[in-house]
Amino acid sequence: MTSEAPDPLLLGQRVVAILETGLRTATYKLATLMALIEHCIENLPENPDDPLRVPLPELAHRVLRTYWRQVRPFDGHELRQSTQPRARILIATNELRDAAGRAGSVEIACLRAPTAYQKAIEDITLCLAQQPLHRLQKLPGADGSDPFLYDDGFLHDHVSRSTLRAHGDAIELRPGVAAGLARLAGLLKPALEIMWVEDVRRMNKFLDAEVPDVAGHLFGRERAALSAVREPFKDAFGPHCFYCAAHLPTNNPIDHVLPWSVVGIDGLSNLVLACARCNGDKSGALPAVGLVDRALRRDRIVLEEIASALQWPTQHERVVAAARGIYRGQPAGVPTWSGYRRRERLDVSFPSW
Ligand SMILES: [Zn+2]
Repeated sequence: MTSEAPDPLLLGQRVVAILETGLRTATYKLATLMALIEHCIENLPENPDDPLRVPLPELAHRVLRTYWRQVRPFDGHELRQSTQPRARILIATNELRDAAGRAGSVEIACLRAPTAYQKAIEDITLCLAQQPLHRLQKLPGADGSDPFLYDDGFLHDHVSRSTLRAHGDAIELRPGVAAGLARLAGLLKPALEIMWVEDVRRMNKFLDAEVPDVAGHLFGRERAALSAVREPFKDAFGPHCFYCAAHLPTNNPIDHVLPWSVVGIDGLSNLVLACARCNGDKSGALPAVGLVDRALRRDRIVLEEIASALQWPTQHERVVAAARGIYRGQPAGVPTWSGYRRRERLDVSFPSW
């Protein structure tokens, strides 16, 4: 590493420090950081010391995807995610949901209502630039920003869309930051989710301790929706656990090969049939590379057929990029899950992806 590239641990500490201090007025900073981490995993530079350009509309798309599920009513209420009366990103998200007939995912909404999608991306891009992106690196009480992640000198409360375009409509992560954030994803993402749930509880007084599973509503996988892939997968691949080949009962779990908690990818290429035993044992663990490889080698044509029948994208390229980003950031020898109660050390001689 060059002297310019930050030590990942120090980077993680600084990220946590900017989030831990003071009460947040909205969950936007958390959403922005999560989107940045996801972008880093899926676009990891070849050389870990390289900078990484992050197009703002792409970041906006990721933020939109995070809020997409969260704006659904919870316990009959719309959850507040800001102490301000007007929450711009939530408004933009809701407008698109209405225009797209409450589509199941942002990807489907984009196909159904392209103009409304484009407007939502524009609104969120501008909001990110005017609020969280230029406030993120400012410690409370500090005069200026400490731009350790990216240069935010051109961002401010009233920055215009044309100024953003003049800067390439992007921010650039400093050398080494992308690799550091990707490597820390497994630690940072769960921490961000915990802070997010705390914020939402604070901003919604009706959510007393009795109200269950706010976290599940905000970040949980949609179990009911996932079950739609069960029968098509059984028809295509047989009624067997992907991991141990056990014959499956009718209500077996659907497992995310790359952990949902790390990448949050629901595409068919990241889903397999599993038995409850393997699914429970694997939980959020990083799977052995060989398992990911086997999942990615499943018949693409069959998966695409299921995808078009269910209107549920495979997101194959995204899964491949995320797998690359996760494993390349790991030091050799990290334990990975290779089957029920089995662990193996990470083998860094990767398959072709
Ligand atoms: Zn199994």
